[in-house]
Amino acid sequence: MREHVASARTHRLTIGLVPTMGALHEGHGALLRRAREETGYVVATIFVNPTQFDRPDDFQKYPRDIDADLAFCERLGVDAAFAPDAKEMYPGEIMTSVDVTGVSARLEGEFRPGHFRGVATVVAKLFNIIPADRAYFGEKDAQQLAVIQKMAVDLNFPVTIVPVPTVREPDGLAMSSRNQRLTPEQRRIAPVIYKALCAAERSIQAGLELLSVVPEIQVEYFEAVDPTTFEPVEKMAGPVRIVTAVRLGDVRLIDNLLVSIR
Ligand code: AMP
Repeated sequence: MREHVASARTHRLTIGLVPTMGALHEGHGALLRRAREETGYVVATIFVNPTQFDRPDDFQKYPRDIDADLAFCERLGVDAAFAPDAKEMYPGEIMTSVDVTGVSARLEGEFRPGHFRGVATVVAKLFNIIPADRAYFGEKDAQQLAVIQKMAVDLNFPVTIVPVPTVREPDGLAMSSRNQRLTPEQRRIAPVIYKALCAAERSIQAGLELLSVVPEIQVEYFEAVDPTTFEPVEKMAGPVRIVTAVRLGDVRLIDNLLVSIR
């Protein structure tokens, strides 16, 4: 892999890297196409990284189809696919890891202990194996993208991280290799996830728009907070208090509403 990249460099090609876990779909396709447009030598990596799985059965059942993946890469004009096995990536006990604190603490980090350490470490290894100019990551995994961006800055990886918008099925479901594992009944239900996000977006926007279209009003803040700590809401599970302060001329007005989430 190093030799291929070095040879591309001698031809003055820029290197684009697209790390994946395989079972490629049009979400990965968007990353690969973008890399193809923006760089001269595109490397796809295909590696189901064991260290980022918190549940052994999730790792075992993760879809794998290397032949289809290589054909997909070829169709998209990818220059090289790097598909190491676990022994090649982790020949011995791994004693070094990358921990991006803060941004990795909550949400996926909380529900999947060790997940982001596994992700950051394997991506750091891939950045060292494939010294790319640009590396492409999907916004579908928004927290992962933020973790990688912070790691690249903090550890001075000379690579530009390029975010790519989420690709969805016609019914709104975000494309994912794991969608293959849904039963037909589960697949029928799954689009409600995106519908819920859109409903939340609409209600937040509707609230803000009512205020922002009134030229006499300047909004100082408009937030959803924990009703006890007044910290930004951690989980939409419990009640939240929507709080706002506005200026109407030289008068400052505040108000709030407790929203019980049923
Ligand atoms: P994965 O193979 O699921 O680890 O994903 C590899 C890369 O593709 C990650 O940067 C993902 O965020 C990105 N990706 C996966 N699904 C999508 C999607 N539906 N739209 C855009 N990017 C995606």
